[in-house]
Amino acid sequence: MLLESHVHLTSFNNIAEIIENAKKTNLSAIIAVGGNLESSIKTIGAAKQHPGYVFPGIGLHPSEILKENTQETLKYIKEKSSEAVCIGEIGLDYSYSFAQTDDNREMQRNIFKDLLLAAREGNLPVSLHSRSAYSDSLQLLLKYGPEKAVFHWYDGPIDILNKILDEGFYVSATPALEYSKEHRLVIQNTPLEKILVETDSPIYLRSLKRRSEPSDVLLTVKELALLKGQDLEETIKVTGNNALKLFDKIKI
Ligand SMILES: [Zn+2]
Repeated sequence: MLLESHVHLTSFNNIAEIIENAKKTNLSAIIAVGGNLESSIKTIGAAKQHPGYVFPGIGLHPSEILKENTQETLKYIKEKSSEAVCIGEIGLDYSYSFAQTDDNREMQRNIFKDLLLAAREGNLPVSLHSRSAYSDSLQLLLKYGPEKAVFHWYDGPIDILNKILDEGFYVSATPALEYSKEHRLVIQNTPLEKILVETDSPIYLRSLKRRSEPSDVLLTVKELALLKGQDLEETIKVTGNNALKLFDKIKI
């Protein structure tokens, strides 16, 4: 079954239409992540409106930490963890202009650590953002996090990828397979049994010159099948099973 493993559903204002399109494309389920307090609350709400189809993640994205009362968001995440299938999107990002100071990076790591502990306590997998902070993300995950994680859109160094895979974590393939040399190299070096597929929608699709939506995960999985020289049906089946193994609260 085709599973979309990482969408910012609450960034759309036509969620019902987006879900209809996903169903027409034979998507079996959507994992919708939250990136701050407001989107986490809305994601839980969207999942309640589409039970058995939209499964919620709640989290705090590193791009949001300067805009949020992080303690309030953390409290919400802990309280609602039983209603979520993962903690995400969370992580580190050292590429932002505001992240060029040691203080900011330290702040990111402290919040990330608390979120990882919350995931461990709630026995939930994590959906991780690790751009330009690959090594620190993995180290903190190993120290404080749960046993299950996906490095979403991983495009970092191959030596760290190998450590990620040795620890049994997953990475996700995204529409960036079309144009990112680094991301393609990562996916070429990862066995299909460790790959999830996603769109990270509504991110812009360069090839189609429009914003993506969950149904576009079909493009990702087709590109993945081509890259791996695998049958499309088999690629859909294996990546779907991988998502169900990782997000083990999902029952469909
Ligand atoms: Zn995302």
